[in-house]
Amino acid sequence: MREHPYISAADTRRFEDFLRQASVIGIVTHTRPDGDAVGSSLAMKHFIDGRIGGKTCRILLDTEAPDAVRFLFSPADAQDTLVHRLDPAAAESYAAGCDLLVYLDFNQVSRTGGLEAVLQASKARKILVDHHLGPDLTPYDLAFSETGVSSTCELLYQILSRCPSTLENGLPKACLDPILTGITTDTNNFANSVFGDTLETVSALLDAGADRENILEHIYNEYPERRIRLMGYLLDRELVLTGRGIAYMILDAATAESFGIQEGETEGFVNIPLAIDRVKMSLFLRQDGDQYRVSIRSKKGWSAQRLAVRFFEGGGHEQASGGKILLGGSLQTKAEVAAWIERCTETFLDDENC
Ligand code: 5GP
Ligand code: MN
Repeated sequence: MREHPYISAADTRRFEDFLRQASVIGIVTHTRPDGDAVGSSLAMKHFIDGRIGGKTCRILLDTEAPDAVRFLFSPADAQDTLVHRLDPAAAESYAAGCDLLVYLDFNQVSRTGGLEAVLQASKARKILVDHHLGPDLTPYDLAFSETGVSSTCELLYQILSRCPSTLENGLPKACLDPILTGITTDTNNFANSVFGDTLETVSALLDAGADRENILEHIYNEYPERRIRLMGYLLDRELVLTGRGIAYMILDAATAESFGIQEGETEGFVNIPLAIDRVKMSLFLRQDGDQYRVSIRSKKGWSAQRLAVRFFEGGGHEQASGGKILLGGSLQTKAEVAAWIERCTETFLDDENC
């Protein structure tokens, strides 16, 4: 296997050594996990079970996996997954007893939601595998942090395929579909962040037997009708285009409830307005109690990441970021939130000389 530009043989040996030396392993990803978070977590677990063996290993989620990727969980995988929101005591006591934590697909521990406190207090060894901008690398004994890859799943594939036990025995078959799922969802089905290495990785996954048809069927052709109805409603009634090329849509709690919309069912809405010629950046806001969660996408040349960091206490990638707006004071109603979005995007475009 050729030497990788940023994954050294020494680091993959250390990675496997850390797994072998551990007894109780926790695999951790970000809250409201997406396909990349869930896929990388499952691939990591299958690698440990299939190539290391003899370990206690659990996936720790803050909130449940979205419906679209539930197909990746076998009954045994589901049993080995602890969800903090469903059973905080079980998730916290398992996390506290880990001697190795593998963190996947996040750049700040605060992204783990309700698990943050127990993770911050943990003295376990820690490994990071992530592709977000601006990571805090201080907590890690070993960190693979690369922003020029499509997804954490692709990065994890590069690491796992260079581990000594993979070189000897190949990658466990159970790793393939989770990895391809994460690459597919994070690239928006190969529309964004696709590099030569991404396609080489996918080529190897397909040759090894990954079932792309099944993955696509589950991810893109099994939505509940209410999602498509809400999409139509929002595009027709709620989409605002400013004179400066900003598109935004705001979904308040009452509207979400009237459509019966569940967590995760508005995934991808933010991308749609980017198809309009004069749109530079698109924002999608969804009310979540006393805050709005903000998703931002931008065309090349405008930084979703800088907008998220500056105004929404968030971050992510150059063209795809997220954050939040806390409601209170003069920021309460949907109209006030809309006015604020227009003000901060104006300021942003002025300061970025756009
Ligand atoms: P999405 O809009 O799909 O929720 O998120 C897009 C990207 O922004 C993802 O890479 C995600 O990790 C990141 N992101 C979303 N919300 C937040 C947040 O609140 N804080 C930070 N730092 N990143 C976020
Ligand atoms: Mn990701």
